[in-house]
Amino acid sequence: MITFENLTVSYRQHPALHHINARLLHGSLTAVVGPNGSGKSTLLKSIMGLQPASGGRISVAALRERIAYLPQLTEIDRGFPITVHDCVLLGCWPVQGAWGGVGTVALARVTSALHAVGLGGFGQRPIGSLSSGQLQRMLFARLLVQDADLILLDEPFNAMDSKTTSALLALVKQWHQQQRTVVAVLHDDAQVRAHFPQTLLLARELVAHGPTAQVMTETNLGRARTMAEAWDEAAEVCEMDQTQALQAAF
Ligand code: ADP
Ligand code: MG
Repeated sequence: MITFENLTVSYRQHPALHHINARLLHGSLTAVVGPNGSGKSTLLKSIMGLQPASGGRISVAALRERIAYLPQLTEIDRGFPITVHDCVLLGCWPVQGAWGGVGTVALARVTSALHAVGLGGFGQRPIGSLSSGQLQRMLFARLLVQDADLILLDEPFNAMDSKTTSALLALVKQWHQQQRTVVAVLHDDAQVRAHFPQTLLLARELVAHGPTAQVMTETNLGRARTMAEAWDEAAEVCEMDQTQALQAAF
């Protein structure tokens, strides 16, 4: 479903991802883990096409409108004046298009998605009035109506109470059973071991990728930590990027 070939992604020549090679199979359920600043969010953004590659390439075997993306909660504007119902309805947008109109089928999907996440009756509430747990449930309802083949989740359970976490984990499992490809950035090692068959461990470079038990070893996790401690923001400039920048300049 996703192939990274020597992928490098940089912000002002500082690589957040460096020479990544990996293949994520169709229907796989993968946790992306690694220290803070190890490029996890950048990886999801590059899959979405939101962050261009500065070297190598990434190919995704899904149409853009069949990919769903849940950003980190901190990146979501909660002040936007929209109701829960309308925000979930926006999930139908990629398929429906601007002039498709809102059919009864779409409206029924919104109602059933809100029920599925335990937010039946919340439809007319402004999103600004929701707790963070409720907001995350609403965003999962939106993913439900989106009916995507590839679902990207950035720290979906961060700061969630345990009830919300288990409800949302159940949806992730359901997507996996439906053969959808799911990639989730996670922090909780126990959760990864318990629920995610595949893991990709990042420390800007790829430390390990494969079955979770083989990736989440003390050796690999220790290596990722050591690599993170060695990062020097001021010194690190990717030579390949420099060459490309020079080539672009002439
Ligand atoms: P993670 O999600 O693993 O914490 P990120 O992908 O958010 O890591 O960030 C990886 C690195 O890229 C960090 O050093 C971060 O500071 C840097 N970075 C992320 N986004 C930007 C940006 N928009 N501009 C400049 N640097 C960024
Ligand atoms: Mg992040």
